[in-house]
Formats: sequence, C-alpha cells, structure tokens
Amino acid sequence: MKGLPSVERAVAVFSRFPGIGQKSAQRMIYHLLRHGSVEVEQLISSLQMLQDRVHTCRNCYNLAEGDLCWVCEDSRRDPTLLCVIEESSDLMAFEKAGLFNGLYHVLGGRLNPLDGIGPEQLQMNTLQSRLSAGGIKELIIATNPTVEGEATAHFVAQLAQSMGCKVTRLAYGLPMGGELEYLDESTLYQALAGRREF
Ligand SMILES: [Zn+2]
Repeated sequence: MKGLPSVERAVAVFSRFPGIGQKSAQRMIYHLLRHGSVEVEQLISSLQMLQDRVHTCRNCYNLAEGDLCWVCEDSRRDPTLLCVIEESSDLMAFEKAGLFNGLYHVLGGRLNPLDGIGPEQLQMNTLQSRLSAGGIKELIIATNPTVEGEATAHFVAQLAQSMGCKVTRLAYGLPMGGELEYLDESTLYQALAGRREF
C-alpha cells in the first residue's frame, strides 16, 4: 500500500487533525478502504453538509446552522452575563458541564502578533458593538491560561472597562498552559464559581 500517491495524500490530510498522528491517519485510511464505498460516501456527504450548513451565529460567532446558534436562540438564557471565549470548542466545554446560563462571545482565536493575529482578526469589534448596545452587567473572560490567552484577556478587559462594564475572569485553579476544552467539569466549575474581578 505504501507508495500509492492517493493513499499518501489522504494520510497527509488526516494526520493534520489534532491528536491524529501518521499511524492513526493510516489506520483510518485503511479502515475506509476496507469498508468500501458506503463509508467513503458517508464521509464525503457529512463533510459536504458541514461545509454547506455550518457557519457562525450572527450574534455570538459560535457555530450555527441557522441565523442564531442554539444558545442565542434560547430565551431562558441571561443576557446580562456575557462570557468571552476563544473558540466554539470552549463553549462546548461550558455547555457540557451545564455551568453557565448567560450568553457567549466567541473571539475566533487569541491574540498572537507573531502569527499575525491582531484584534482585527478576532471578533473584537463585534464584542465592542455588543457592549455598547448595553444591557450587559458582567463580562466574564474565559480565555485559555496560555501566554496568548492572557494577552487576549487583558485586551478584552481594557476594552470592556473603558466602556464601563464590570469584568471578571475565571479563577486560576486552571492549569497554566492548559486548554479549557480538556478540563473536567469540576475544575471548570471551580474556575467559574471562583471568578474574580479583573
Ligand atoms: Zn450565538
């Protein structure tokens, strides 16, 4: 099998996924080849559906299939609490843990000047618009505890404070360098419950 350009190309594509190395990618490709066209068709159609249907919520920039994501559509959520996070996967961590009843703002990444990611590349302007629309009593910053996440947190805090909004951030029992989406629920709960003013 080795040496077939189409196999190598597919392995190269699959091994770009987080947590998938060369070996796992090979196993996935062999699995697809063994199970024939049905699995391949399902894979193609599910990816096509992702591309066609999934975009971002016009309010919070979470992933959505409609105009608004399921969080923004839920009228039971508290619109006075806004939790700022880096990615939709962080939102999923909060939602899975069922810890938070406010709304989110998904920045779409974190500040990283070396990689050319400045405020303009993130959803900062839209955050500013949401804050200036009023009604938000507390902005909870839940960026990841990494160097870039910290820089992002400071930027967001300054932005919100300059607009007179109360700013808190997650308590750091969080492991430095860790990623929110991999935290267990009780650690995330402690971090949220123990949040402090910025
Ligand atoms: Zn939304």
